[in-house]
Amino acid sequence: MEQLILTLLIVASLYLFVSPVWKRLRLVLKARQRLRFDQMGKRWLRFLSEVVIQYAVIKERPFTGVMHTLVAWGFFIFGLESFHHFATAYGWHPLGEGAFHRAYGIAVVVFAVLVIIGITALAFRRFVLRPDTLGKRSWSSATIALFIEVLMVTYLLSYFRLLQDPLAQDINWWIHSLIILAFLVVIPHSKHLHLVLSPLTTFTKDFELARIHPLDFEKEEMGVEKLSDFSAHTILSAFTCVECGRCYDHCPARQTGKLLDPKQLILDIRAGLLADFEQTVVGPVIKEEILWQCTTCGACTYQCPVGIDQVVPILEMRRGQVSAAEFPATMRPLFDNLEKTGNPWKYPVSQADEFIEQNGFPDFHNHEVLYWLGCMGRYDFYYQKVSLAMAQILKAANVKWGILRDEKCTGDAARRAGNEFVYQALAEHNIALLNDAAPKLILTSCPHCLRTLQEYRDLGLNPKIPIVHHSEYIAGLQQSGQLQLSGIAPHEVTFHDPCYLSRYIGPSHVQFPREVIKGTGATLTEPPHHAEHTFCCGAGGALLFTEETVGERVNHHRVKELLETKMSEVSTACPFCHLMLRDGLKDLSKESVAVRDIAELVASCLLVRSGNES
Ligand code: SF4
Ligand code: SF4
Repeated sequence: MEQLILTLLIVASLYLFVSPVWKRLRLVLKARQRLRFDQMGKRWLRFLSEVVIQYAVIKERPFTGVMHTLVAWGFFIFGLESFHHFATAYGWHPLGEGAFHRAYGIAVVVFAVLVIIGITALAFRRFVLRPDTLGKRSWSSATIALFIEVLMVTYLLSYFRLLQDPLAQDINWWIHSLIILAFLVVIPHSKHLHLVLSPLTTFTKDFELARIHPLDFEKEEMGVEKLSDFSAHTILSAFTCVECGRCYDHCPARQTGKLLDPKQLILDIRAGLLADFEQTVVGPVIKEEILWQCTTCGACTYQCPVGIDQVVPILEMRRGQVSAAEFPATMRPLFDNLEKTGNPWKYPVSQADEFIEQNGFPDFHNHEVLYWLGCMGRYDFYYQKVSLAMAQILKAANVKWGILRDEKCTGDAARRAGNEFVYQALAEHNIALLNDAAPKLILTSCPHCLRTLQEYRDLGLNPKIPIVHHSEYIAGLQQSGQLQLSGIAPHEVTFHDPCYLSRYIGPSHVQFPREVIKGTGATLTEPPHHAEHTFCCGAGGALLFTEETVGERVNHHRVKELLETKMSEVSTACPFCHLMLRDGLKDLSKESVAVRDIAELVASCLLVRSGNES
């Protein structure tokens, strides 16, 4: 009789577990853009680091991360033991009855104790300390915490045979069994579904941050209009979110009082998917306003411990909006200018030609290095100084280099703003020039150009041409001795890391601008948010070309933080950051604090050395 009741309960709980999980996975399988299973070696390595070792969970919040890891490892170990537990009721012992099961039992005991420590610490944080980031109290979290504690205690009571009375042993066995079965029922309806889905979400995540595929206009691809247009990974992500709030904590839009909250964005997509898979997204599910508050800085994606990329659905929805001609009026001049002049402003091409000719920039012709000037480097009065600094550096290092006189904007702003049509038109022009020039190396000072040039590989740019940021290139010249600097008088600076360098190109690059700065003899003082944890300047995602009307301006927030370092100079390595920091300092009446690109710092050393400061 007991066996029959147990069988009925197992069948019922498996049904209540599998049915909602399948309902969600079916939506993932219906998506047009499938999950990616290429580069399997790299994916398994990441799986080992982020799922098995839980590196992503631990690195950003060490204490909470370690506590979570204890629980996660306990979950893996208990999975097998629980299977064994139920099988024994049918006379089967999958882990055997001898030495192996005894050894395994010892491991389970150790983890039972560690899980009790971990879950108690996490529950204390969630229900007693209650940081804002976790949102409202949740019944499911409390229930799961209680379930886990009772599971561990009942296991320990049984393992150490602490209950003498056979009836008490029976009751203990049933409590343990019923909790496992109830756990299965609660999982699909709570954030604990991440236990099941996050390994797959992490495994299939793109290796590049915010990677979107080029729209195929011949197939009438328009971006996301309905929820069913989202990629399989975005749909899977919506069901995986563990509601930890790390993205909420780090989002510059949220921190400066905008409506955008990346965690809520993912949860809203989740709710919408469960309500009606075919419904329109922008409007009924996601407010249009929040789409245009994202700077695409990637802080959210970088923080997410379960492999969610929040920037992708934002960019996809922007593409859907632009296809439907529903975008902010402030974007119109950007799109028109890019189409007419090939730069985001109304500057005539002759203006760039004049700058290039006056300063003797060599045209590229079988040189070693193609220096990609970018729109700011060609047209912006202040940023042209960086182009000149780079010319001096390349000359001093005896590099054979040239520029493409006919280069147009890479289309970064068009692509981030969702205008794939304009982006692809610009890309087609530039790719033809670049493939024809076939340089050994493309060098650029702009991380946005760098990222977009990398994306050109999806549209036919020769993938064998390396594309390098000037921070890495100059650091290499310094290290190899090809660039000799005289050093300058003791000089102190702080460095603002551009998001598109430190997070998009990757944390492995954050060392290069620092090496360059230190190579000039300057002392570097880091602001609170630096390297891959940098705080956005507010210009990415095409927001440089719009008005920021809600909350505090992002560049003001960042500039105030930089000013805390008490440095009289801010260095950076991106034209957008250069402009936003200059503007921010001006708005706060702190023009006495200078903003210089790392190339300008290096070039000033060359001037001192040659004694030609004029
Ligand atoms: S990319 Fe940056 S601004 Fe956009 S949602 Fe993520 S953290 Fe916020
Ligand atoms: S999206 Fe990721 S970082 Fe944000 S709350 Fe969900 S799990 Fe946490």
